[in-house]
Amino acid sequence: MISQVYDLHCHSNTSDGTLSPDELVTRAAERGVTTLALTDHDSISGLEQARLCAQKLGIAFINGIEISAQWEKQCLHIVGLNIDPQHEAIENITLNLDKMRDERAEKISQKLAKKGIHGALEFVQKAVGDGMITRTHFADFLVAHCHADTQQQAFDRYLGDGKVAFVATTWTPFDVAIKAIVDAGGIAVLAHPLRYKLTASRMKKLLAAFKAAGGQAMEVVTGRYNPDEMRILGNYANQFELAGSVGSDFHSPANQWIELGRLAPLPAGVQPVWELFA
Ligand code: AMP
Ligand code: MN
Ligand code: MN
Ligand code: MN
Repeated sequence: MISQVYDLHCHSNTSDGTLSPDELVTRAAERGVTTLALTDHDSISGLEQARLCAQKLGIAFINGIEISAQWEKQCLHIVGLNIDPQHEAIENITLNLDKMRDERAEKISQKLAKKGIHGALEFVQKAVGDGMITRTHFADFLVAHCHADTQQQAFDRYLGDGKVAFVATTWTPFDVAIKAIVDAGGIAVLAHPLRYKLTASRMKKLLAAFKAAGGQAMEVVTGRYNPDEMRILGNYANQFELAGSVGSDFHSPANQWIELGRLAPLPAGVQPVWELFA
C-alpha cells in the first residue's frame, strides 16, 4: 500500500496565502501530499479551482474552510472539513464575514491614517481582489511601505490585539459556526488549540463546549510540531473523544519553517479525522 500523506489545513490567495489555489495544489502534490484540504479564512472561493487541479494531478481533495468564530470574547478558528461549500449555512457565514472584514479594513486603515500612514485600504483591496481581507494583507502593506521589517513586526507594532491599529471584531458565534459546518455535511475541527494560550481549565471548558456544540475533531499535529505539544493535544483528543486532525497551516513558501505535507504522524491511539469523512 502506498503511504498516505494528509494535509488538512492550508491557505491560498483567496484569503491570506500567497499561492493561487492551482499553485498550492501543485506544490502539495510535488511534496507528496495524497489528500489535501484547502481551508481559507471564511472563504470557499478557491475550492473549485483547487479541486479541478487536484483531479488533474491525481490527488484527493477535501472541501474546507477556516471560520473565524467567537467563544466568550475569545476569537477561535474552526476548520470545517468535507463541507458542501454551496450550502446556505456556509454562504450566510461567508457573506456576513466578508462584509465585516470590509468594514474592519476601513477602520484599520483610518487608525493607520491617524498615525500618518496613508493608502492602506487601497493597497489591501488591490491585493485581495475578490478574496477576504485579512490583517496579513495589512502587514504586507506595512512591510512594503517600510513601517515594519517583517510581518511579525507589523503585528507586534500595529495590528496585533490591543495595538494601535487593532480593531475589535465580533466574529461568528462559536455554536453557529459549528452548526453551519455540520449542517453542510462537514466535520467541525478546532484549529490549533494551543495558539489561544488558554489555561488547562479553560481549555477543558472549551473542549467540552466544542463537543457539546457538535464539534467532532481537533488539530493534534500542526506545521510547527513539537513532540510535547502533540502529546498534550493527543491526550485532550482522547479525553474528550474528539478525532485528531493534521494540518500545516501553510500560507507561503517564504516561511521556511512550514511546508505542505511536512507533518508528524498522529500520536498512537488518536482516531484520524479522515475516518469520519463520509
Ligand atoms: P484576521 O483573521 O484577518 O484577523 O487575520 C488573522 C491572520 O493573521 C491569521 O490567520 C494569521 O495568518 C495572521 N496573524 C494573526 N496574528 C498574528 C501574529 N501575531 N503574527 C503574525 N501573524 C499573525
Ligand atoms: Mn492566516
Ligand atoms: Mn487559524
Ligand atoms: Mn489557518
